[in-house]
Amino acid sequence: MFRRRAATKEAPTGRTAGDDALTLHGVGRTYRKGGFVALHPVDLTVPRGRFLAVMGPSGSGKSTLLQCAAGLDRPTSGTVCVEGVPLGSLSEAQLTRLRRERVGFVFQAHNLVPSLSVAENVALPLLLGGATGDAYDAASRALAAVGLADRTGDRPTELSGGQQQRVAIARALVTDPAVVFADEPTGALDPETAHGVLSLLRQAVDVDGHTVVMVTHDPGAAAWCDQALFLARGRFVAVLDRPDAEQVHQVMRRLGREAAVAA
Ligand code: ADP
Ligand code: MG
Repeated sequence: MFRRRAATKEAPTGRTAGDDALTLHGVGRTYRKGGFVALHPVDLTVPRGRFLAVMGPSGSGKSTLLQCAAGLDRPTSGTVCVEGVPLGSLSEAQLTRLRRERVGFVFQAHNLVPSLSVAENVALPLLLGGATGDAYDAASRALAAVGLADRTGDRPTELSGGQQQRVAIARALVTDPAVVFADEPTGALDPETAHGVLSLLRQAVDVDGHTVVMVTHDPGAAAWCDQALFLARGRFVAVLDRPDAEQVHQVMRRLGREAAVAA
């Protein structure tokens, strides 16, 4: 497998990166109001170059896990490390920088800035980080990689939903992040368009050695992944390696029944 990043590339705090893109130790999240436990303490190791699906019924804690792992939310217990850097040790400014430079995001709603061109949207994480001229070259390369080389000057609203999601993927990859987090990236797309988006994520992993953690409730999407982890009521309850859609569907059906019984 080709790895675009050297294993010794420095993380923001100056630490040398290890082999794991992401580790969680005892990471839990309780929402203060009512003391509701959305995520019981979980451990998770995501090696570089893995495409991981996080699945589970609605309300099982998938987004909570993703937000904590991505440094968008602070867990109430445990430690999240991105490339060996414990996020809890970072100041807000350092965390902001880490989110901009070492983490990529793709959401169901792609969150593109409508007043900026496609190329400007993709260059934005680099420009915010203080990069100058070559930010647009990098944006053009990232857009070419998702098949949108000819749309760099367009506004996001001039593109279809699938094309906009490909722009979001280009933007997520442009900083060459340690981990790309995707929360239901195909949730708003028709199956054919979803296929294109998933194959791009798969390609980012296989060709460029990126690491992707994708929350999805779609067994067809999970089947593109190397591994599927299943959450139920805030705990990991099952794992499938090299899952196929039918296996995933069966586990989801079982968890859905159990959730209905528990409710
Ligand atoms: P999923 O993404 O699997 O649907 P979430 O992680 O969004 O689930 O939510 C897990 C549980 O935590 C749900 O019961 C949800 O209602 C609750 N929850 C999520 N965010 C908050 C919040 N900010 N305050 C209180 N409860 C929350
Ligand atoms: Mg969610």
